[in-house]
Amino acid sequence: MTRQQLDQIPLTRLQGVGPALEKKLNVIGIHNVQDLLFHLPLRYEDRTRLASIGSIRAGETVQIQGEIVSNDIQFGRRRSLKCSLRDSSGFISLRFFHFSNAQKDSLALGTQIRCYGEVRRGRSGLEMFHPEYTVLRELKELPMADSLSPVYPATEGLQQARLRNIANQALAFLDAGNQESTQGSPAIQDYLPAELVSRFGLYCLTDAIKLIHRPPVDAPLAWLNEGVNPGQNRLAFEELLAHRLCMRRFKNDSDQQSAPRLGAASELTQKFLQQLPFSLTNGQQNAYQEIADDLSRASPMLRLLQGDVGSGKTVVAALSALHAIGEGYQVALMAPTELLAEQHFSNFQNWFSTLGIEVGWLSGKTKGKQRSMQLEKMANGESQLTIGTHALFQDEVIYARLGLIIIDEQHRFGVHQRLALREKAGQKQLNPHQLVMTATPIPRTLAMSAYADLDNSIIDELPPGRIPVNTAIISSDRRAQVIERIEKACAENSQAYWVCTLIEESEFLQCQAAEVTAEQLTTQLPAIRTGLIHGRMKSKEKAEVMQQFKEGYLQLLVATTVIEVGVDVPNASLMVIENPERLGLAQLHQLRGRVGRGSKSSHCILLYQTPLSKAGKQRLSVMRESNDGFYIAEKDLELRGPGQVLGTQQTGLMSFRVADISRDAGLLDQVREASELVLEKHPEIIDPLIRRWLGDRINYANV
Ligand code: ADP
Ligand code: MG
Repeated sequence: MTRQQLDQIPLTRLQGVGPALEKKLNVIGIHNVQDLLFHLPLRYEDRTRLASIGSIRAGETVQIQGEIVSNDIQFGRRRSLKCSLRDSSGFISLRFFHFSNAQKDSLALGTQIRCYGEVRRGRSGLEMFHPEYTVLRELKELPMADSLSPVYPATEGLQQARLRNIANQALAFLDAGNQESTQGSPAIQDYLPAELVSRFGLYCLTDAIKLIHRPPVDAPLAWLNEGVNPGQNRLAFEELLAHRLCMRRFKNDSDQQSAPRLGAASELTQKFLQQLPFSLTNGQQNAYQEIADDLSRASPMLRLLQGDVGSGKTVVAALSALHAIGEGYQVALMAPTELLAEQHFSNFQNWFSTLGIEVGWLSGKTKGKQRSMQLEKMANGESQLTIGTHALFQDEVIYARLGLIIIDEQHRFGVHQRLALREKAGQKQLNPHQLVMTATPIPRTLAMSAYADLDNSIIDELPPGRIPVNTAIISSDRRAQVIERIEKACAENSQAYWVCTLIEESEFLQCQAAEVTAEQLTTQLPAIRTGLIHGRMKSKEKAEVMQQFKEGYLQLLVATTVIEVGVDVPNASLMVIENPERLGLAQLHQLRGRVGRGSKSSHCILLYQTPLSKAGKQRLSVMRESNDGFYIAEKDLELRGPGQVLGTQQTGLMSFRVADISRDAGLLDQVREASELVLEKHPEIIDPLIRRWLGDRINYANV
């Protein structure tokens, strides 16, 4: 007899859940009783005991009980209701800024209440602002909680008490389902085979869920605050396993597909190498060799090309493109921003024009006749290489013979787009090969889980002769000195960048800040030719400014973080980054990589806003200590977490529900082992696991 599964039970079966509440729950991703069990607490509150008022201190969050001994409306800066609460040990004030008359009346003198809240030091001693409270009617004993109270992620109009109550009901279903005697009652399925559970010493699913929702009163604090308990561990393991299996599935599917076999490298690549003013580093050669091997296979390449800023990934991309073009196939090169795409466009035009190769351009801003002509050339195969932004893969775009897709600075796209792109680009019988290049190195642990579907090539050296950038951390109080440094650099025929950052994710404000800064600097440095570039300028204007800076006419370029990627002006040897504390280390490293490209020694000044926290200083000092992108990436992950490092919070695949890549890094090797075991011996659990942990999000990737 099959038992009814909890994911089949509608929320409305729970007491107190009607259509209105159901809707609210749907908003936070809860659609059935099982979802409630996977809706895990953010933190816990201790309501298992009462504190005596005389012993509590400011800053503590406590539960207390006593009698109301005063009740007044006060008219200070804001009207408020102030009550005094007394127990046998002392007094405390309760203050309410929002209150109704009914509420005031319910807190009449002599009323007994139990309340919970944070204690602060106020004007008249200790106070609680807006505590949660319950009136104790007729002095009846109110039972004390017997486990820590979870605080759940909620949404507007959804109270914690409500959530706790329905979570309790869901947990009761779980218990009922576990009693062998109650046949036909619902249960949650533990997909992990017993073999795996015992091999890795995991909790069973039911125990894990119960522990997380209702931890025992004596649970160690670290269990709760740092999420290092066996319950969390079990769920994180299962989630990571589901992700890994999903990636492996993509990889397997892709291995089953056919791609054009692009045989030996052609004359084109040889000619290109001969015209380059330098020879390839070993790292570049090895990476290209790995790519060439992949391209000659009958299934699509899925390869990640990593290398530190300035390691010369673009040349490797160019070789790969020529490889495909030489075999009669088309190549699409996609970059995350217009500016970067334009840089590539002018680069590749220079490199490829002497080889007689047609390089096309397509971005969202390509309009009218130009657009229809370019689309025509892609559809009839005339455009051998097309460079652009996302526009390259819109529905109306058709390629005659697309053999290779190159995605630059991939992690700005997010993992989902990569997966979606793979679907879209697959036309006719043959799927194109894919080469993904990252802007900055990715920490190993992240690469292992976020890119488990990709093979990895690493360019592990910089071209010879590079002098490491010297980094200084300077407070904004010394701005005048920094401006002198710019004068000095320009006097020595160098060029400089001044990068403006803003904490808001607002491009508009960032551009405005850059405009203001450019004006100030122009006034302060009248002898220096200063230009401005930001994301809201027309692409033609941007291209003109970049050209003037490249040619050396402009000496100082004030910019927003749009110059983060791809800009290549070797004569620039000084970079000032304003408010560097607002950026991640990987992003700072990427920005800093715009200097140190020539033969001169270069400097990067991190001009921070005072006061800066100790942690902030420590973070910036990583930049001073190291020029190694891989090291910096590890530190960034340690200090900020994976969502920030990969920039994929919005796309979801790396924002886990339970797992945390930095905290759970230790699980990854086990997860990898487990995934092999599952693939080999228990393939039937792959689908359900993926559905449980990634269900909605995978469909989302395909729209
Ligand atoms: P990234 O890996 O950051 O994308 P780029 O491809 O932009 O780096 O290359 C950085 C600079 O190094 C470019 O000016 C490029 O021409 C130059 N470069 C690339 N490979 C070599 C090499 N083997 N020797 C010397 N310079 C090189
Ligand atoms: Mg690059």
